[in-house]
Amino acid sequence: MLRLIDVCKSFKFGKNKTLVLDRVNLDFKKNELVFILGKSGSGKSTLLNIIGGLLEVDSGKVLLDDKDITKFSNSMLCNYRNNMIGNIFQNYHLIEYMSVIDNIKLGQTISNNNSDIDAVLRKLGIYSKRRVKVNKLSGGEKQRVAIARAIVNNPEIILCDEPTGALDSSNSIKIMNILKELSLNKLVIVVSHDESLAKKYADRIINITDGKVEYIPQVDDKKFRNVDKRKISILSILKLAIKSLGLKKGRTLFTSLAVSLGFICMLLVLCLSRSFKNDVNRLEEDIVSSFPISVYNGESSVLDVDIVKSTDKIIRKNNDYYVHKNIINNNYVDYIKNIEEISYIGYEYDLSLPIISDRYKELDNTYLKISPGNDFINDNYDIVYGNNIESIYDIVLKIDSNNNVSSELLDIFDIDNDIYYEELIGRKLRVIINDDYYVKNGKYYFVNSNNQEIYNKSEIELEIVGIVKEINVIEDNSYFYCNNGLIDYILNINSNSKIVKEQIDSDYNILGIGMDRDYLLSYLGYESLPIGINIYVSNLVDKEIVIDKLDKYNDNNDKIIYVDTMKEAINILKNIINVITFILVIFSMISILVSSLMIFILTNNRVMESVKEIGILGSLGARRKDITRLFNIENLIIGIISSVIGITVVIFLIDPINYLMKIFLDSDGVFKIYNNLVMIGLIFNIFIVVLSGYIPALIASRKKIIDCINNRF
Ligand code: ADP
Ligand code: MG
Repeated sequence: MLRLIDVCKSFKFGKNKTLVLDRVNLDFKKNELVFILGKSGSGKSTLLNIIGGLLEVDSGKVLLDDKDITKFSNSMLCNYRNNMIGNIFQNYHLIEYMSVIDNIKLGQTISNNNSDIDAVLRKLGIYSKRRVKVNKLSGGEKQRVAIARAIVNNPEIILCDEPTGALDSSNSIKIMNILKELSLNKLVIVVSHDESLAKKYADRIINITDGKVEYIPQVDDKKFRNVDKRKISILSILKLAIKSLGLKKGRTLFTSLAVSLGFICMLLVLCLSRSFKNDVNRLEEDIVSSFPISVYNGESSVLDVDIVKSTDKIIRKNNDYYVHKNIINNNYVDYIKNIEEISYIGYEYDLSLPIISDRYKELDNTYLKISPGNDFINDNYDIVYGNNIESIYDIVLKIDSNNNVSSELLDIFDIDNDIYYEELIGRKLRVIINDDYYVKNGKYYFVNSNNQEIYNKSEIELEIVGIVKEINVIEDNSYFYCNNGLIDYILNINSNSKIVKEQIDSDYNILGIGMDRDYLLSYLGYESLPIGINIYVSNLVDKEIVIDKLDKYNDNNDKIIYVDTMKEAINILKNIINVITFILVIFSMISILVSSLMIFILTNNRVMESVKEIGILGSLGARRKDITRLFNIENLIIGIISSVIGITVVIFLIDPINYLMKIFLDSDGVFKIYNNLVMIGLIFNIFIVVLSGYIPALIASRKKIIDCINNRF
C-alpha cells in the first residue's frame, strides 16, 4: 500500500504562502491504474511530485508500506527515485540530442540495471527507431521512449503527469493501453484533466479541487518490494561524460579551442620569459671565465657607499663618489693565492722592466701583460698562428678582433706595413736587468740609453711564438703576453742588483728623481707587490665562493675593495632583460586572468544550459555527487583536450618564434619549451577548467530537481 496521511504543501509567492495541498489523505493499491482528475492549478502535479520524491512535504506522511519516504535520507531518496519510481511527463523530458537508446540507457546507467532494453523497445513498438535522435521523433514516439526509460529499471510505481496532454487521440490511446497493461503488476498513477479518458481506463478516479481530495480508504495486503540500494559507478559516469561530450562535438571542440587559446598565451609567455632568463644565465656562465674580478692598489672612487662602508672609519666623499684607498700587501697576495676556487691570477706590476727589440727599440711597458697562465690562454683565446707560451722566454701577440695591432707594437720591429702572421713569429725582444740598465756616475745612477749596447749585453731573450685572438671579445686591443714565471725570474735577479743594494743603504733617492724612496725600491724590484690583481674563476658557483672569501678578508683586515668587471658588463644587459621579463610576466598574468575568466564563462554557460539535463538525471535517481562528478569529468576532459591542443600549437610555434627572434633580436634558438613550466601550466589550466565548471555544477545540483526539470532556475 502507498498511503498519504495529512499531506500539506504550500509554495511561497514572495511574502505570501499559498496552500497547494490541504491535508491530503489517499490510499493506493500495489497494482491499479488510478486517475487523478482536477482543473489546472488544483495541485495534481504537486501531489505526483511528492509521491515521486521530487518535492518535500510541509507536513504529513507518505508511507510506502510501513516506511515514510518523507523521512528518507538523501541517498535513500535517490535510490527510491531510481528503482521504485518511473516518471512520465507531459513534455517527455528527454535529452533531445541523444538517441533513443542512449536516453533509455541513461536511466539504466544510473541504476546499473541490465534489463533487456531491446525487449522493452519491441514491446513499445519503437525498436526500429532505437538509433534515431530523440529530436527527430513524433510526440507519440517520444512519449513511448519516456515510458521505456521509466520502466527499464522495473519500478513499482509509474507516475504520469498528463502523459497524453500533448498527443492526438490515436497516440493517446496507444499510450493509455501501454499504461493499462503496466498496471497489471505496477501501481500507475495518471494525472489528467481528461474525464472521458479516465472513465475508459481508470480502475479508480480521484478528484482534486483546490488541493483537497475526498478520502476513500482502500484495502490491499500486497506489499511493495524494498528499495534497492544502487550506486552509479565512476566508470559509467565517465562513459556518460564521454558520450555527452561526443554528442556535443562542435561545442566541445569550440570550448576546448577557446580555452586552449588562453592556455597557449600563458605557455608562450611563461616559456619566453624563462628562455630570456636562461639565455642571460647561459651567457653569464659562458663569459664568467673571461671576466676577472679586479683589485687595484691605491685610490678609487665608487658610487655605492655599501662597498666602502666601515663601522669604525670615516669615509672620504668627493662630490657623489666615495673615495677608498686599497693597500695591497703580502698578506693579501698570499690570501688570494690560497683561495682554491680561483682558476688563474693575473698580476700587474709597476716595475723597471726595459725591453728592447731586435731593432734596438724600446717597448712601452703598457704593451706587455703577464699571462695568468698557459691554460688561461688556451681557454680564452684562439691561437691563430704559432704556439702558446711554454717557457719564460716565450711571448705571444694578442691581436684585436679585426686583426689589428697598435702601430707602436710594430714600430719597434721597424715594420711599417701590413705583414703576414709568420713574418712576426720568431722576432726577438730582450729584457734588460738593473745591472745592465743602471750605471753609477758619482753619487747617482743613470740610465744607459745605448739600446744596442744593452741589448747585446742582455741574456734574457724573448721570442714571439704565437699570435692569439680573444674567443669572446672583451678587451678589443692589442698587446704582448709573457709567461708569469718571467716576472718572478727578473724580480729575483733585480732584487739582488747593485742599485737595489745601494738604495737600501741610502736615505736619498739614488736615481735623483722625485720618487718616494720605498716606491723606488719596489719599482726596482725589491719586495715588489702587484699594483693590480686579476682574479679569474671558471664558473658562477666558484665566483660566488671567491667573492664571499674576498668579503671575508675585509671583515678582519683593512678593507680592500674589488671590481666585478663581469657584473658591470652584464648588468646593463640584465636590466634590459629584466624589463622585458617584467613586461612578459605582466602579460602572462593578464593572459592567465583573461583565459581563466573565459574558461569560467564558457564552462559556466555550458553547465547552465544543462540544467534540464541535471533535472532529468535527478528524476532518474542520480545523486548530487553523481551530477557534479559528471560535470567534473566532462570539464576534466575539456581541460585535457584544450591542454593537448595548446601544447601542440606551442610546439609548432617554436620554430617560427625563433625565426622571428633571429630576425628582430638577432638571437639564436633562444625560445625553448620548459617541461616543468608546461606541467605547471597544464595543471593550472585543467584546475581552472574544472573549478570554473564545479561551482555552477554544484549550484545546479543543489537546486530542486523539479525546478531544474521545469527550468525554474
Ligand atoms: P496542476 O498540476 O494541477 O495544474 P500544480 O500542482 O502544478 O497544478 O500547481 C498548483 C499550484 O501551485 C499552482 O498555483 C502553481 O502555480 C503552484 N506551484 C506549483 N509549483 C510551484 C513552485 N515550484 N513554486 C511556486 N508555486 C508553485
Ligand atoms: Mg500540472
